[in-house]
Amino acid sequence: MNAEIIAVGTELLLGQILNTNAKFLSQKLASIGVNVYFQTVVGDNAERLSSAIAVAQQRADVLIFTGGLGPTKDDLTKETIANAAGVKLVYDEPAMDAIAAYFTKTGRAFTENNKKQALVLEGAVVFPNDFGMAPGMALAAGGKLYVLLPGPPKEMIPMYERYVEPYLIQLGSTGNLYSRVLRFFGIGESQLEDVLQDIIDAQTNPTIAPLAAEGEVTLRLTAKATTEIEAHELLNKTEQQILERVGSFFYGYDNESLHTKVIDLLHAKGYTLSCAESLTGGMFAAKITDVPGVSSCFKGGVQCYDRSVKEKLLGIPADMQVVSSQCAGLLATNVLTLLQSDVGISFTGVAGPEPLENQAPGTVHIGVAIKGKHTETFSLKLGGNRILVRERAVKYGLYYLLK
Ligand code: ATP
Ligand code: MG
Repeated sequence: MNAEIIAVGTELLLGQILNTNAKFLSQKLASIGVNVYFQTVVGDNAERLSSAIAVAQQRADVLIFTGGLGPTKDDLTKETIANAAGVKLVYDEPAMDAIAAYFTKTGRAFTENNKKQALVLEGAVVFPNDFGMAPGMALAAGGKLYVLLPGPPKEMIPMYERYVEPYLIQLGSTGNLYSRVLRFFGIGESQLEDVLQDIIDAQTNPTIAPLAAEGEVTLRLTAKATTEIEAHELLNKTEQQILERVGSFFYGYDNESLHTKVIDLLHAKGYTLSCAESLTGGMFAAKITDVPGVSSCFKGGVQCYDRSVKEKLLGIPADMQVVSSQCAGLLATNVLTLLQSDVGISFTGVAGPEPLENQAPGTVHIGVAIKGKHTETFSLKLGGNRILVRERAVKYGLYYLLK
């Protein structure tokens, strides 16, 4: 694979800033075996950008753009690239949500203009922007790969390291690159990296690429080998080293997810599950029932959002605080009895934005009851807005069921 880096920005041509993005990308691409044959700089001008793309299409397999994705210039850059690649621009839902959330968080007004930042090339792989709003993307079209990255280095660098490099490595994995994803929950990316830093630094085959997404952290191990057996040996050895240190947070491989693992475990043990959801109002049940054939192990649940439902259906005493581990434990035990399942799980807490029973948003209590054995409760302080607190609570609940 050979590449051309196209930095877009009139300020680069005026000499106001140095093209450090090209330096960074050239070094990074070389390290994964992608040869950079050309670096181009072009201003924020559709016509000249078009001609730069036409030239690059003649001489490179991968066209990597940086800059010009912000709210003021995105029309120009993205539209020009879309025309050159022969695709439409469409609104990406996750990017739109991320942009809306960013505006909510910073208390600023969300204007029509900002929506444009969620426009992506149709069919592209979208890379989240963890430090800004404009998402990055990669699109394969007409035998070329177009990669679009934001201009500000503090957005571009983490995006490249977290999402683009693993993507390019995976793409180049023809024949002799083998990868395996290890999935972790309950540990942050920086904490995981800290604990594994020496292994990550020393490791060249397989390489280890951490990635954080949706409250989970994954490590992609990529091995170079001549046979699959050799690759497995290399991957197994590194995996073992990693799991010796952070095995307690590990839950699965590759495309596995917390909820599919929970269902597998229930099937393996022959257990049925039911849930009592206050905080999450049915989100847990919705997640579990995403999987076809789950009726053999999932009984159903009670959406006990209002206190009266907790009291009437699930025997919560009138004087019990509902945001408490006692309440979580009792809800789990009583839903198990009510719905005659082997395992009961419950969620109670404060999603926010307002406090409840004098407790801060993000306070979460989860109960897990196992018939004839015990009831355990887990208390958490989760960050994020209302949506995130509830989503994260569901993930923690699934995680506790696996433990
Ligand atoms: P904005 O809407 O803020 O313009 P954008 O995604 O369109 O965002 P650019 O306008 O291209 O990004 O760049 C914003 C800033 O990022 C620039 O002012 C500059 O500081 C930095 N930047 C852009 N391109 C590069 C580059 N090639 N090398 C180093 N820094 C760059
Ligand atoms: Mg610019």
